[in-house]
Amino acid sequence: MERLLELQECDLEIARLRREMADIPKRKAQMESALDAQKERVAQAERGLREAQERIKRAEGEIEAARQQERKYRERQLQIKSNEEYRALEKQIAALREQVSGYEDAELADMEAVDRRKAEAAEQRAELDRQSRRVEAEVAEFLKQAEGLGGQLAALEAERPAKAAEVDAEWLARYERIAAKGSGAIAVVEHGACGHCHMKLSPAQVVEARKRDRLSSCAFCGRILYAPA
Ligand SMILES: [Zn+2]
Repeated sequence: MERLLELQECDLEIARLRREMADIPKRKAQMESALDAQKERVAQAERGLREAQERIKRAEGEIEAARQQERKYRERQLQIKSNEEYRALEKQIAALREQVSGYEDAELADMEAVDRRKAEAAEQRAELDRQSRRVEAEVAEFLKQAEGLGGQLAALEAERPAKAAEVDAEWLARYERIAAKGSGAIAVVEHGACGHCHMKLSPAQVVEARKRDRLSSCAFCGRILYAPA
């Protein structure tokens, strides 16, 4: 029975190591996802920068169009005879200049915004760099530990056949059959109950579980019962 318990300890440890190893990609991704918020801050600053640059480009286009229009009005003014028409064009030109002045004010504000956004984007990128280096170091440390898991697992898997060989073949077969369901084949009896399913056992079952020369199992969950002496 003690040998069977040792085998179970080995098997549970193998299962735990396998689970931990299977979790490695998920845990790595979790660690890397800590950078998501900072990546979003960089993207936001870059978006703000692009938007201000596009507004400047549009304002320049509008200013250029208004100036062309003004030149056309000026040419027309040279050809017309009536004062009234001349004054009307003069009014339109004044309105165009007002528009241009508005675009220029907005352009100036956007140029300042570009400077601010550039500084902000650089700052956020530098912060992302710092965070990336930290996470990279964490991930590297984690992967190094994870490599150790592989070694531990290989060592236990190598030990297992010898441990299994020490167990009576019939007991081993029964143990393997129950262990295949997962979560341990042997349940320790605690306070007169099965340590796996926690059902109350009869006193006779507890007495049986103390015997080391036979295998008894829980009537409820089928686990092999083991009662410490
Ligand atoms: Zn049980």
